[in-house]
Amino acid sequence: MSPRILIIGQGLAGTALAWRLWERAVPLLIVDRDEPHTSSKVAAGLITPITGMRLTVSWRYDVFYREALRFYRACGKRLKQRFFFPRGYVRLLKNEAEIAKWHKRRRDPDMQPFLHRQTPELNAEVIHQPENGFQQRHAAWLDTNAYLEFSRCFFKSLDSSITADVQPADVHDDADAVEWNGQRFSHVIWAQGWSAEKHPLFHWVPFQSALGTILTVKADLQGEKRIVNRGCWLLPRQDSTLRAGSTYEWTFDDPNTPSADQVQKLEATLHSVLKAPAQITATQTAVRPIIKNRQALMGTHPTHPRVAFLNGLGSKGSLRSPWLARHLIEHLLDGTTIDAEMDLQHNSI
Ligand SMILES: Cc1cc2nc3c(=O)[nH]c(=O)nc-3n(C[C@H](O)[C@H](O)[C@H](O)COP(=O)(O)OP(=O)(O)OC[C@H]3O[C@@H](n4cnc5c(N)ncnc54)[C@H](O)[C@@H]3O)c2cc1C
Repeated sequence: MSPRILIIGQGLAGTALAWRLWERAVPLLIVDRDEPHTSSKVAAGLITPITGMRLTVSWRYDVFYREALRFYRACGKRLKQRFFFPRGYVRLLKNEAEIAKWHKRRRDPDMQPFLHRQTPELNAEVIHQPENGFQQRHAAWLDTNAYLEFSRCFFKSLDSSITADVQPADVHDDADAVEWNGQRFSHVIWAQGWSAEKHPLFHWVPFQSALGTILTVKADLQGEKRIVNRGCWLLPRQDSTLRAGSTYEWTFDDPNTPSADQVQKLEATLHSVLKAPAQITATQTAVRPIIKNRQALMGTHPTHPRVAFLNGLGSKGSLRSPWLARHLIEHLLDGTTIDAEMDLQHNSI
C-alpha cells in the first residue's frame, strides 16, 4: 500500500516524526493520550555542547545541532511562532579538581568551535562565586511546551492529530498493512517514551529510565539571559522566572512523585549558585526515556516489519529528535540503512 503512517505518542520524538512526514507530503495520523506531565512537557529543552562532569563535547553534537537549528527555525516559520532560542551558556567550575580538568581539556581540537573567547563576567550580585567559568557557543533552549502545542494545533487543523490512549492489543499488523480503529496504515511508529517499557513487542529493550525534577523559580536576574551551570543549571525565561534542574532518580515507585531528599538537594544547589533572592513557585517531575548503553534506538521490529520504534532520547530529546526522525522516515520510505549504533534490530535479543 502507499505510505500512510500512524504515530503513537506526541512528545519530542512523535512531533519530529510528524513534521518529517509532512515535509515529504506523506499522510499521517498522530495519536497522543495528552497526559499533563510527560518528559517532553516537563523538559527544560536545553541544548548544550560541553556537558557532564567529564567536560567533553556531547556525542555528534555538531551534526545534531546543525539539523536541530534548521528544523526548529523551519517549524517556527511555518507556524509563525518562535520557540527556539540560541543562548550563551556559562559553565562555572565547582572545585580545584574541575579547574585542573578544564585546563587539560580546553586545548582539545573538538572543543574549539564551542568556546567563546571572552570570559563570562557574571554579575556577582546575582550569582555566587561567578569566577572560574567559561562560556560556550552554539547552545540554545527549546520552549518544548510551545513547540508541542503549536505543532499539535497544526496537525489537528489537517485532521492528522487526535487524542486517544492506544492499546498495543488494538493495533494489528500483517504483511500488507497495519490496522487501528478501523483505519489502515502502511506502518505504525511507537514513539511513546518510557511507557514503551510495558509494550509487549518491545519488552526486551533494556530501558533504564530516570525520574527527573525541575524547579520553577521567581527571581530578578538583573537582565542575565545566559544559561548558567554549577552543579545545577539555571535557565532564565522571558517572564522574570527561571527554571532550575535537574535530578536523576534511577529507582522510583511513582512516576509523579520525586523523593524529598532529591528535591532538597536540588534546592540547596540552586541556592549555592543563585545569590539573588529566589522563591520556588513550582516543582515538575517526569520520566526521561533512557536505554541502557545507547544514545537512542530506532528502526523496525525484527519480526514485524511494519511496526517501527523511536525511543531512548534520554536528556537530549530537543537536540537529537530532528535528526533521528529524518533518518527513521528515510529508512521506512526509501529503505536507507539505519546507523548501526542506533539500529533497533542490531540490539534485539
Ligand atoms: C526533568 C527533565 C528535564 C529534561 N531536560 C531536558 C533538556 O534540558 N533538554 C532536552 O533535550 N531534554 C530534556 N529532557 C528529556 C527529554 O525531554 C526527552 O528526551 C524527551 O522528552 C523524550 O521524548 P519522547 O517523545 O521520546 O517521550 P515523551 O515525552 O514521554 O512522549 C511520549 C508521548 O507518548 C504518549 N503516549 C505514551 N503511550 C501512549 C499510548 N499508548 N497511546 C497514546 N499516547 C501515548 C505520552 O503521553 C507522551 O505524550 C528532560 C526530561 C526531564 C524529565
